[in-house]
Amino acid sequence: MRPVIGITPDVGQSNARPGRPATAQYELKQAYADAVLAAGGLPIVLPYSEDASAPQEALDLCDGLVITGGAFDIPAELYGAQAGARMGPLKPGRTAFEQRVLRAALAADVPVLGVCGGMQLLAVELGGTLFQDIRDEVPGALDHEQRNDPREPGHKARIVAGSELASVVGKSEIEVNSTHHQAVKDAGRARICAIAPDQIVEAIELPDQFALGVQWHPELLAGSEHLALYRALVDRARR
Ligand code: MN
Repeated sequence: MRPVIGITPDVGQSNARPGRPATAQYELKQAYADAVLAAGGLPIVLPYSEDASAPQEALDLCDGLVITGGAFDIPAELYGAQAGARMGPLKPGRTAFEQRVLRAALAADVPVLGVCGGMQLLAVELGGTLFQDIRDEVPGALDHEQRNDPREPGHKARIVAGSELASVVGKSEIEVNSTHHQAVKDAGRARICAIAPDQIVEAIELPDQFALGVQWHPELLAGSEHLALYRALVDRARR
């Protein structure tokens, strides 16, 4: 049996056309599911619910979890801040469910991979904080919203020696894509395991369980060191 990997979808709307008003829809970039399949896992999508027991019941179906990203930000209140002018759109229903399913996974030692906004949520869940806008708050930072295709790298990241991430990717430096305007400021109880040349945090992990967050989108990149992240998740998810 392949390990079942729950993936959190984005929430959006269908395009309206005459006689067909826009309707809410779940959205998932196929690359996430393809990466889980390529790594030997069976992906399932986790729809959102306000029911208090739903996140735990959804997690109970899963051997591992991928918290994905999207074009939205985490409410500043969740990390003890107030929203500044550069804060992007919020998706509070999505974030609330993701936070609860992530919390349940961490409590049950179910392996977790947080991708992009999913890494930021992992940091916040572990007591960390975020820069609400890199350009605004980190003078001299690189452009972390690359103009080129995210299937190609945007900048380098140095992998911290001795980290779990270092053992997974087997390299001390990798090329990553970059499509984020926020970043982890303080990683809380997590440790930082990859750093961009401008010192922006690019990955975090917990030392004592498989909870890894990466600021880039490994599922979009071709190198085997990127699929290795999904492989590590699926391997740890095997019962
Ligand atoms: Mn970046």
